[in-house]
Amino acid sequence: MQSPKPSTPTPEQIRRAPKALLHDHLDGGLRPGTIVDIARATGYDALPETDPDKLGTWFREAADSGSLERYLETFAHTCAVMQTRDALFRVAAECAEDLAADGVVYAEVRYAPEQHLEGGLSLEEVVEAVNDGFREGERRAREDGNRIRVGALLTAMRHAARSQEIAELANRYRDLGVVGFDIAGAEAGYPPTRHLDAFEYLKRENNHFTIHAGEAFGLPSIWQALQWCGADRLGHGVRIIDDISAEGRGGAAGVKLGRLASYVRDKRVPLEMCPTSNLQTGAASSYAEHPIGLLRRLHFRVTVNTDNRLMSGTSMSREFEHLIEAFDYTLDDMQWFTVNAMKSAFIPFDERLAMINEVIKPGYAELKAEWLFRQSAAAPPVASDSVAEEG
Ligand SMILES: [Zn+2]
Repeated sequence: MQSPKPSTPTPEQIRRAPKALLHDHLDGGLRPGTIVDIARATGYDALPETDPDKLGTWFREAADSGSLERYLETFAHTCAVMQTRDALFRVAAECAEDLAADGVVYAEVRYAPEQHLEGGLSLEEVVEAVNDGFREGERRAREDGNRIRVGALLTAMRHAARSQEIAELANRYRDLGVVGFDIAGAEAGYPPTRHLDAFEYLKRENNHFTIHAGEAFGLPSIWQALQWCGADRLGHGVRIIDDISAEGRGGAAGVKLGRLASYVRDKRVPLEMCPTSNLQTGAASSYAEHPIGLLRRLHFRVTVNTDNRLMSGTSMSREFEHLIEAFDYTLDDMQWFTVNAMKSAFIPFDERLAMINEVIKPGYAELKAEWLFRQSAAAPPVASDSVAEEG
């Protein structure tokens, strides 16, 4: 590797850059210390470790192990400590705080209300506890000088039979902190068409939804999510790469898109890509080989996301650090991904536009101007690289 170009953002700039996140699971982003605290307070004694550092390592290793059983066990533990109003409130507040501290200005965080009923809460009480937690986290972030807006996506589990009920719940709490709906869980054997009633209901209500599709499972899953269910966005969607064939060698010029890939690009279908998570599940073998590189060059509506920050030991900044190293991305690329995400958010159009024009673009403009004011720059002329490349 060459030494970084002057236009390559530093880790500090990556963190300060305004970022938008569309795909993050509430039960996949807890602080290890919080899990230990709540487990102790609620008498949950099945944690594999009670030291927060060791527990954090255990989560990452279990997710890395390649064993589906161990991976699912991680969520059994996080869900087990999210069964009371106080616990949900705390986890949601810390989620907003942590994202804000990482420079995320807009986030849609998802969770499945049906997985938080074991302590006797109703679906409504779960949603209200999480909403209140997000508002508290936004408030704490403001106190720390960070600005973030968090919307909730309500998830239904694809192996279960509650999707209609959860879709109705999402509709009832629309404009009250919930911005959309999602289905998640094992793709194989549970096609999204099992939940057609829920999707058709949401469409009749003019509501928004995304579907986990094309992660482990291939093109049929993406095709069903779009053409049968009418998803507004695709959770992951990495396997769309299977409908893109390389003619000749690499580069965007020598590729041919199949009908489905063309549709996804033509219709600007947002792809919620989660690089580190995809590496852990085997959907990609390295950052450099992740389909996001080619899809970005081909101008698909690609976005960068975290999926499960705890299990993947990641953050939005870390995801960008990996991509910048793998693909030589600049602040312009980061801005492109971020604007893509903001355009694809489920909040109203005028609010998305204001976020782009009044928060995201000025934030990147300021970062891009920083090289002009570097006091100790030994050779200022090389910095003009970044300008020349805009062409
Ligand atoms: Zn996910």
